[in-house]
Order: sequence, then structure tokens, then C-alpha cells
Amino acid sequence: MMDQTQQDSNTMPQVINIAENIRQIQQKIANYSNKYAVANKQIKLLAVSKTKPVELIEQAYAAGQRDFGENYLQEALLKISQLEALTNINWHFIGSIQSNKTRELAAHFQWVHSVDRLKIARRLSEQRGHSLPPLNICLQVNTNNEASKSGMSLDELPQLVREIAQLPNLKLRGLMAIPEKAETFEQQRAILRPLREAFEQLNANGLELDTLSMGMSNDMEAAISEGATIVRIGTAIFGGR
Ligand SMILES: *Cc1c(COP(=O)(O)O)cnc(C)c1O
Repeated sequence: MMDQTQQDSNTMPQVINIAENIRQIQQKIANYSNKYAVANKQIKLLAVSKTKPVELIEQAYAAGQRDFGENYLQEALLKISQLEALTNINWHFIGSIQSNKTRELAAHFQWVHSVDRLKIARRLSEQRGHSLPPLNICLQVNTNNEASKSGMSLDELPQLVREIAQLPNLKLRGLMAIPEKAETFEQQRAILRPLREAFEQLNANGLELDTLSMGMSNDMEAAISEGATIVRIGTAIFGGR
């Protein structure tokens, strides 16, 4: 008989059940939607697969997941080509953008969340193939903290939004933030609240934005309570990196 002590979990290889993780997160999203009375909104789960092998993406796909987020362009392009056979995947770029990389972003992604300056938006619009639908973009907003030095400031946002909304081959969907780590739930909410307020103000001024991309494994509840419409979850689906 096998010695039970040899099956101690510390010595077992890490087994990860992607389908079960996704199911649990979807359940949490539904629970928080009810709790914060935002159940009228569709909250999309973006599975952040950076640094994870294509086999895990395939498992998530088999479990019904269709939206995947990647941060590093070369890694993403390789995965996109390896997974070409999987239909209806939406690839979202969420990493920082160098301007010499916009052409490949425009060609291979359905969404870019991390547009942080006008120059990048202009290049994406110019380089988006005319046979493709407009590229969905979010503007990355600096939540005024050390952690995210990149991103547009809330002050410059209204003017930049006006210009970017005119660009022909983009569809400006909304705002995105990568907040600093916060100790408490209330602190997490307080960091995200200005983003929601800016979003509401822009729509009050005539824009039709439908996306607030915020919320990661550690602040998903706070983000949903502040109106997130896309949560970007890596660790809680694919394990630590
Ligand atoms: C890595 C990453 C995530 C996912 O973070 P987790 O804490 O692993 O859920 C979300 N958004 C961005 C921009 C990221 O770089």
C-alpha cells in the first residue's frame, strides 16, 4: 500500500483546475454584481494568460473562456499563431506599448486596453487594416500613484478623449487602470472611484463609453463595486507567476 505521507500536498506537483477556477470566478462576479446592484451590467471576465503556456489557454478555452489578455507582444504573437485554430478568441493587449510595436498590435488584437498617449492612438488607427473591424481601445488612466507612472492624467483626459474618439479605425470603448496595491477594501475602492467618476462625466458629456477595465485577482470585488465592466484576472485562474 502506498504510504499516505508521500502524498503530502507539499510534495505533490501543483495541479491546477482551470475550468474550476473560471467557474468560481464567474460565480463571484455574479455574487458581487448582485451585492452591489450592478447586475444589469454585463461584466466580462478577461483571462490574463501572460507567461502561461498555450496548454493552459486551451484548457480555459475548452471551459468556454473566449477573452484572453497578454502583456508582452512577442509572447502574445507566438501564442496567437499557435492557437489560430481556436475560433472566436478575442485577444486583448494590456501591457505597456512602445510606439514601434503598434503595427503588430493593430494587426493581431481585437482590443488594446493600455493606450496611454495620443501618438499611440493615432498610430493604431492609421495601421489598423481596413478589412478589419475598428480596433477596440481603452485609455489607460493614471490613478495618481507610484505604481502606475504611465497612463493619462484625469486632467488631460477630456481633451484627449475628444481627439481620440475622432480617429477613424478605432472604437473608443472606455477607461482602464492598473492601481497600486492597497491594504483595505475601502482603500481599493477609493483609488478606483475617480476613474468611475471620470467615466460617468465623459458619458454625461455625450460620449458613449461602455467599458471600465479594472479589477485584478486582488481587488476584483472593489472594482465591481465601482462599476467595472471588464475584470482582468490572471493569478486566480492560472496560478501564480
Ligand atoms: C498581470 C495583469 C493582470 C492580472 O493580474 P492578477 O493579479 O494575476 O490577476 C491584470 N491586468 C494587468 C494590466 C496585468 O499586467
